[in-house]
Amino acid sequence: MKVHEYQAKEILRSRGVPVPRGQACFNVDDAVNAAGALGGERWVVKAQIHAGGRGKGGGVKVVSSVEDVRKAAEDLFGLMLVTHQTGSQGQEVKRLLVEEGVGIARELYVGLVIDRASQKVAVMASSEGGTEIEEVAAQTPEKIHKLFVDPARGLTASEAESLMSKLDLSGAQLAESVGFLEALYQAFWDTDASLAEINPLVVTSDNKVIALDAKFNFDDNALFRHPDIVALRDTDEEDPAELEASAVGLNYISLDGNIGCLVNGAGLAMATMDIIQLYGGEPANFLDVGGGATTEQVTEAFKIMLRNPDLKAILVNIFGGIMRCDVVAEGLVEAAKVVKLKIPLVVRLEGTNVERGREILEASDLDMLTATTMAEAAEKVVAAAKG
Ligand code: GDP
Ligand code: MN
Repeated sequence: MKVHEYQAKEILRSRGVPVPRGQACFNVDDAVNAAGALGGERWVVKAQIHAGGRGKGGGVKVVSSVEDVRKAAEDLFGLMLVTHQTGSQGQEVKRLLVEEGVGIARELYVGLVIDRASQKVAVMASSEGGTEIEEVAAQTPEKIHKLFVDPARGLTASEAESLMSKLDLSGAQLAESVGFLEALYQAFWDTDASLAEINPLVVTSDNKVIALDAKFNFDDNALFRHPDIVALRDTDEEDPAELEASAVGLNYISLDGNIGCLVNGAGLAMATMDIIQLYGGEPANFLDVGGGATTEQVTEAFKIMLRNPDLKAILVNIFGGIMRCDVVAEGLVEAAKVVKLKIPLVVRLEGTNVERGREILEASDLDMLTATTMAEAAEKVVAAAKG
């Protein structure tokens, strides 16, 4: 689960990690009032969307009058903000963060992520903050310093110090940054975060070390332990198709291609996407209807897939293990009638009661292509999507 920058900063602030003073805003008046309440002479107005690269995309404005805070807020609210992480249509800005301006001496980078390979928490630090860390990793990987923390022991002060000293920090700045990293690690650990990224982590002109940006992702499997974090969920930022699917108990993920996939079992769904690609096609989605999908769920699955204007064909690939092929076939015929399918449909059924299932499909007046092997199914659906 992702949260907004302002929410991540509230989590950090409450756990003793230094962040600028700021306030979340939901309309222009909020923003103007926030600037007045914060006081000072410089403010930063930041678009809150679940995507990075906002600075480059025009979503972060540094201003020096309350009137300019108003102008920035007017420009940003409702804007379809396009960044390298949003896709070309952008993401609508519905919330802003208005913060006190901070005098920046240096922009650093700190990131924490669960490293499954080593089963440790990977802590990354770089002196090249503020820019896209992916670029630093690609062009000057030696500028990213890494530390793997044993989660049973936690981050030690000496580990934190040896990492931060690689960023040319010394004296008060080093001590501040070590304290920052220790508190950040603890916040990451206590919230069951899967990722925490502070870019930039800034050293201010008066030697303070403070998180100017904050990105936090949380482990979905641990959310039951954190109702306070669950409450921060902003469904405006989530894919409507994925939300709808999860509401009816389907595992659906939108992708960029044009071939819809309806499959039972996550492994078979992955294999189906692979074989579509092998035959030169592109899947429009990942969809696992699970082991006991009902006719209603299959109907919903069709509806969700068909809402994608790019969809050119659908492949149904079902292995009847627990689920019987005749039940699946009945469900498919029903669902296809309800949604009045107008694009090519390829069906491959295998497993328990497959003969009876195929009879049901053949007896229906449903317009479809059938296949017995996955390869045949993939070949047919790719051809159908192109034709
Ligand atoms: P991102 O582009 O989505 O990662 O958004 P950031 O929060 O990282 O903001 C982008 C850039 O805006 C930062 O790297 C800073 O250079 C600048 N910025 C953000 N907050 C402040 C601030 O308080 N003062 C100044 N001078 N610049 C800021
Ligand atoms: Mn950033």
